Amino acid sequence: MKARVFSGVQPSGNLHIGNYLGALSPWVGYQQQFETIFCIVDLHAITVYQSPAELRSKIEETAALFLAAGIDPKHSSIMVQSAVPAHSELAWMLTCVTPVGWLERMTQYKAKAAAQQTVGDGLLQYPVLMAADILLYQAAIVPVGEDQAQHLELTRDVAQRFNSLYGETFVVPQTGLPSVGARIMGLDDPTVKMSKSATGAGHAVGLLDPPDKIRKSIMRATTDSNPAVDFAILSPGVENLLNIFQAFSRWSDEKMRAHFTGIRYGDLKKQVAEMVIAHIEPFQQRYREITSDPGYVARILREGAERVAPIANSTVELVKSRMGLYTESR
Ligand code: AMP
Repeated sequence: MKARVFSGVQPSGNLHIGNYLGALSPWVGYQQQFETIFCIVDLHAITVYQSPAELRSKIEETAALFLAAGIDPKHSSIMVQSAVPAHSELAWMLTCVTPVGWLERMTQYKAKAAAQQTVGDGLLQYPVLMAADILLYQAAIVPVGEDQAQHLELTRDVAQRFNSLYGETFVVPQTGLPSVGARIMGLDDPTVKMSKSATGAGHAVGLLDPPDKIRKSIMRATTDSNPAVDFAILSPGVENLLNIFQAFSRWSDEKMRAHFTGIRYGDLKKQVAEMVIAHIEPFQQRYREITSDPGYVARILREGAERVAPIANSTVELVKSRMGLYTESR
């Protein structure tokens, strides 16, 4: 049997090249060797307020972006988290074995909580729901960007704690980080990660941005007061631009150095913009084809949920019986 790979993206805001390089694009490479499940985590999105109409439309948009990136429904299950109730069921059971202190330490929680007037309990529970997503399918590998590494550590801790309290139940998953592109920074502020919720123009390159807008955002990116690339003293902004180029081109470190040493920042930006556009244009073309068939995405999501639900339900049954909860089957 093939080992299982699971990952997810929130259907909130606009997906950007950080999501593409840190998640979507690496996912494609797992499809041949593993059993792959890719999830649109709408229950995670509502841990901060989402406009209902917008959330509803972003769910299918996100699924279409998965498909455009090369996730093939013949090889992978693409599904929506809330369509499989077992995610919420297991989350509660895991909540009961997770110390609050573990959750209060999470850096994403601290950052998101600081930005809210009222902190919903869901924001604190967010990593437990994520652990449930992963453990429900006994996933062996979880490919994510670097910002999710701490949540993966927590998932491992929760799995181990459950296993030691109730007996071997869960596979303890490994984190799959991409070698380049695991952490793309904001173009306007290269000290913070590129994020879907940042609103400033020129912060991110959206996967559905037209080429003109992509060019403009990259040409305006923050660099430093030096004139040209010097690999001995890379500032965060220049390093980020080189990183983006390398992640799309897949050039080696040696080739990057040989090509970009001494190149003026203006030229660097032009080349980064053209490299990004060369990849994004065919991607957007596939997105348009996918969304031109009105029922297609909904059908893929229904099939995905139908395929994975039996796996999820059998894990919930196992966990119930391990914990002594009521099940008819034992
Ligand atoms: P999110 O945007 O938080 O739903 O994240 C979805 C996936 O994209 C996760 O695997 C993240 O680790 C990854 N990701 C998000 N932002 C970035 C970024 N700036 N650079 C690289 N990967 C990212």
